[in-house]
Amino acid sequence: CTEMLGGTDLGVTYWAECDAQSGMHMVNMDYVITELLDPESGQIIPWEKGAEGEMIYTALGRQASPLVRFRSGDYIEVIDTECSCGRTGPKIRCTGRTDDMLIVRGANVFPSAINSVITEMVPDTNGVMRIVADFEGHTTQGALTVIVERGPNRDPADDVTLKKIIEQRLRDSLVFKADVHLVAADTFEKPGAAKVAFVLRKYPDLP
Ligand SMILES: [Zn+2]
Repeated sequence: CTEMLGGTDLGVTYWAECDAQSGMHMVNMDYVITELLDPESGQIIPWEKGAEGEMIYTALGRQASPLVRFRSGDYIEVIDTECSCGRTGPKIRCTGRTDDMLIVRGANVFPSAINSVITEMVPDTNGVMRIVADFEGHTTQGALTVIVERGPNRDPADDVTLKKIIEQRLRDSLVFKADVHLVAADTFEKPGAAKVAFVLRKYPDLP
């Protein structure tokens, strides 16, 4: 299995991994111009290793409904600009959706990335979390409140230690300050076939 990325707005698959499986190559250069946008400043970012931004597309072949600098909402990181397969050009990974992005004390944070860290911490956690974004818009200067289900075999008496471990792990992996609150396993619906919203705008009985 390899990763691909695309959509039906301009075509089907615009990005796909080669056998090296270390990021997706652009596979649509003759049909779609792809640029990288800084969603905050509105500036176009050069395709360089380590660059991050939202991809915007201009379709060259569409006639009746042209799309010019169409905002995909996909926020990506440029892994490299060369590859062992011989392809040149940007090789990318999608980090999250621009619509979901939160800005915590100047750091871009994606709910899906927090979810991945919490999932990696099973069995200390139950792999389930929610973010409480109880502020206006997407930006906060405070710590980000994250509610995490403790693993079914964890003693609630050890919550203080577990809270510190999770906060440190989030800081190390995603470079932001979290305020973690622990709740019992199976408090929330698990992500499954149906999508669940990771972000809550309020949570009245914060433990
Ligand atoms: Zn390659």
